[in-house]
Amino acid sequence: MSKVLIVEDEIAIADLEKDYLELSGFEVEIENDGIVGLKRALEEEFDMFILDLMLPGVDGFEICRQIREEKNTPILMVSAKKDDIDKIRGLGLGADDYITKPFSPSEMVARVKAHLARYERLIASNTPENDMVEIRGIRIDKTARRVWINGEEKQFTTKEFDLLTFLAENPNHVFTKEELFREIWDMESVGDIATVTVHIKKIREKIEMNTNKPQYIETIWGVGYRFKV
Ligand code: CA
Repeated sequence: MSKVLIVEDEIAIADLEKDYLELSGFEVEIENDGIVGLKRALEEEFDMFILDLMLPGVDGFEICRQIREEKNTPILMVSAKKDDIDKIRGLGLGADDYITKPFSPSEMVARVKAHLARYERLIASNTPENDMVEIRGIRIDKTARRVWINGEEKQFTTKEFDLLTFLAENPNHVFTKEELFREIWDMESVGDIATVTVHIKKIREKIEMNTNKPQYIETIWGVGYRFKV
């Protein structure tokens, strides 16, 4: 549940905002004093701030400025005067939105929702996801170098992992043993294409139900191998 902090000294307005936000499923906390509001905004985790401009203690300008030094949480500024909003914009304090009193509570809720959704998308897009390859019951986590076969994790050596991943990432493409050797083993490495055959055999033992009838890595006689989709 998203948590909103309202810093507002007019009790009736704060309560009205709280009621509407709670009806929309938000968890809401209110502070009526600027100093306490600022302290909580900096020290606690909230998903959105609604800041009145004129407050006892520390005003909304200063709270907004200090939050922005620390966090990217969306901020909606509320003011009784249109002129103040122009002033906030001019100061470039980093507020995400502005609303003037009196406002329609449902519009306020709509704006809170829109900013939260945008912020959540932003966070999601910045979270690095592991690079996965998934084909018919095989899941390869390229970032963590882990492999699951029908949900069960299996251990692969470095070259087995590289070979399986390369084939799975290029499904339906027939590779010769020479091509696979060049791709997976570096140029200086001693060995021959028989190494490829040995590794394919080991991989099959781990991924195939029946190694005599491979469902994943198919042998193309006289040519090489291909990962079937
Ligand atoms: Ca006020």
